[in-house]
Amino acid sequence: MIGFGETAVRCSASGCNDAADWRVNWRNPRIHSADRVKVWLACDAHRRTLDDYLTTRGFPTIVTALDEVPELVPDRA
Ligand SMILES: [Zn+2]
Repeated sequence: MIGFGETAVRCSASGCNDAADWRVNWRNPRIHSADRVKVWLACDAHRRTLDDYLTTRGFPTIVTALDEVPELVPDRA
């Protein structure tokens, strides 16, 4: 999982070194079961970018605050 013990968590967007404020929780339904949660961290500016990237690929996502960990990412309706 994510190293929250580090001094700062950084945005997962390539080339971005900003502190992350959001978790973009996602899953690839073809290879992950429903309780498997992958995480990208995002700054305010990239929260939408990363979510859109995953959504475009048909992956279910849930964006939460950094300290809010979802138990699962349900399939899209
Ligand atoms: Zn960023």
